[in-house]
Amino acid sequence: MNIVCLGGGPAGLYFGISMKLRDPQHTITVYERNRPGDTFGWGVVFSDQTVDNLIANDPDSGEWIKDEFIHWDKIDCFLNGEVERSDGHGFIGLGRKKMLQLLHKRCEELGVKLVFEREFEAENLTTQFPEADLIVAADGLNSKIRNADLDIFECTVDVRPNKFVWLGTKQKFEDAFTFIFEETEKGWIWAHCYQFDNETSTFIVECNPDVYDAYGFEEMSHAESAETCRKIFENYLG
Ligand SMILES: Cc1cc2nc3c(=O)[nH]c(=O)nc-3n(C[C@H](O)[C@H](O)[C@H](O)COP(=O)(O)OP(=O)(O)OC[C@H]3O[C@@H](n4cnc5c(N)ncnc54)[C@H](O)[C@@H]3O)c2cc1C
Repeated sequence: MNIVCLGGGPAGLYFGISMKLRDPQHTITVYERNRPGDTFGWGVVFSDQTVDNLIANDPDSGEWIKDEFIHWDKIDCFLNGEVERSDGHGFIGLGRKKMLQLLHKRCEELGVKLVFEREFEAENLTTQFPEADLIVAADGLNSKIRNADLDIFECTVDVRPNKFVWLGTKQKFEDAFTFIFEETEKGWIWAHCYQFDNETSTFIVECNPDVYDAYGFEEMSHAESAETCRKIFENYLG
């Protein structure tokens, strides 16, 4: 079968790997608008069970991913400076960019063709990709292909109100996955923090729309909003 994957995020790449493993005769091409090293974002986390599933599906890439991961079992939950620690949650963290690089490498090894810097449109897919027996839409959360016809994909979209920003920090949070809840004069705001390599942690800051408006985050530049978050959580950031 001639298979075209539209979108070279984790879903498109991993689908390509999985199909090739099941039948190496398939011709599989993944189309992606970005360049190979362009990816956004800091670290991602997976549960131990997820890693087991990856290893069961493809031991090679599963083991590479496992080797790159930072592992922890504990969760610390700070509420206005007081910590509650719980144990027994197996989790691992890895840089999103590193994960995509490993998946690129595995695709190349198995003969999945990667085409970067190619934008596709949601319309006339069969004209854009006449060679395809199967087209897989893997174009992410804001999928143009899915959004072009939500009914045909039987898709419902439920947008939640909270706002978040995905930041990174050199503070390591190496003992535990850490949640920090702070009650500020403008209301509650909280951070999800986890290490993903030897030097860096993800630091996601989240709040509800009232607090977001009270801080004026919408009008701030990226640097100003990062600095505002740094001040709110400075006791934890070293
Ligand atoms: C702050 C944050 C933290 C997260 N943390 C985690 C985590 O810890 N663990 C976890 O498992 N998940 C996490 N996620 C979710 C994870 O990022 C997504 O589930 C995952 O990226 C989805 O993969 P995907 O391949 O479906 O989509 P994407 O990663 O969005 O990939 C889609 C790809 O398609 C390409 N594309 C889209 N449209 C076009 C077009 N028209 N032409 C060409 N290319 C196109 C995009 O450039 C992109 O590379 C997090 C997400 C966020 C926002």
